[in-house]
Amino acid sequence: MSARIIDGKSFAATLRDRVGTEVSRLKDSYGVTPGLAVVLVGEDPASQVYVRNKGKQTLEAGMHSVEHRLAAETTEADLLDLIDSLNADPAIHGILVQLPLPGHLNSDLVINAIDPAKDVDGFHISNVGLLGTGQKAMVPCTPLGCILMLRDLHGDLSGMEAVVVGRSNIVGKPMANLLLGESCTVTIAHSRTRDLAETCRRADILVAAVGRPEMIPGDWVKPGATVIDVGINRIAAPEKGQNDDGSAKTRLVGDVDFASASAVAGAITPVPGGVGPMTIACLLANTVTAACRIHGLPEPEGLAI
Ligand code: NDP
Repeated sequence: MSARIIDGKSFAATLRDRVGTEVSRLKDSYGVTPGLAVVLVGEDPASQVYVRNKGKQTLEAGMHSVEHRLAAETTEADLLDLIDSLNADPAIHGILVQLPLPGHLNSDLVINAIDPAKDVDGFHISNVGLLGTGQKAMVPCTPLGCILMLRDLHGDLSGMEAVVVGRSNIVGKPMANLLLGESCTVTIAHSRTRDLAETCRRADILVAAVGRPEMIPGDWVKPGATVIDVGINRIAAPEKGQNDDGSAKTRLVGDVDFASASAVAGAITPVPGGVGPMTIACLLANTVTAACRIHGLPEPEGLAI
C-alpha cells in the first residue's frame, strides 16, 4: 500500500485564504483589524527567521502586525512592561513571545504575564487549564494544525486509537488533550514507555513529536493508519554535495522514517511540507479568533476548535 500524502502546504494556503476573508469581513462589517504583536528577545538566527515569516504572513492576511526586537540582555522588568503595554493596546489582539528566551528570563513568568485572551500561542496557564478541562481555549498552533488536518481527512475521529509520542507542553500534551476532545482513545508515549513499537502499532492515528530523526520505522505503523509527523530535524545530506565553505549540505527529516512508513500507512504528513506550514497559518487563525472573542463578535467556522 502507498499512503496518501497529506499536503500541509496546500492545506495551510487554504487556511490563510480563509483567514484573509475573515479579516476583510471583520474590517468591513465591524471596523476591527486583527492585530498581532511578536516579541523577539536576542539574536537567535532560527527565531529571527520565524519572526520575519510571521510578520510577513500577518501583513499578507491584511492584519495589523507589530514586531518588537529586544536586545539579548533585556531585563525581565522591561519585558514585562512591554507585555503590559501590549495587553492594554486595543489594536493588538494577539501577543506572541518567541521562545526560547535567553536564560536569565523566566519563560513561565513572561508567558503568564500575557493577557490569556491575547495568548495566541496558547501557552498561558489559563489556556492550558481550559484546554485540559475541555473548555474553550486559545489552542497551541502546532497541535491545532494537526487536528484541523485530521478532521479534514477523517471527519469524525470518535473512537479511534490515537498514540502521541512525546509529552512536551507545546506539542505532545495539548495534542493529546485535543484528540481526547475528539473522543479518541489516547495514549501518550515518551522516553520511558516500555514497548514503544507495540504501543505505536495500536494507533489508528500516530502523532510523532519527539525530535529524533526518522526514529519511527514503518514496521511500528499499523497498516492503514494516519501518521502525523511533527518532528523537524536537520541531518547531513552527503548525497546533495557540499556548501561553498566545504561543510556538508543538509536536509530536513521528520521523526518518522517516511520511506518505510509511507509504504504501510493510509495517510502521512511529509517533512517538510506537512505539519510545519500549518503552524503559522494557525497563528493567524488564532489571532482572528482572539479578535472575535475580545470584541464579542461571531467566530468564523473552522478556524478554531
Ligand atoms: P521536546 O524535546 O520538548 O519533547 C520531546 C518529547 O519526546 C519528550 O516528551 C521526550 O520524552 C520524548 N522522547 C525523546 N526521546 C524519545 C524516545 N527515544 N522514545 C520516546 N519518546 C522520546 O520536543 P517538542 O515537543 O518541542 O518538539 C518535538 C519535535 O517537533 C521537534 O522535532 C521539534 O522541532 C518539532 N516541532 C515542530 C513544530 C512544527 O511547527 N512543525 C513546532 C514545534 C516542534 P521525555 O518527556 O520522557 O523526555
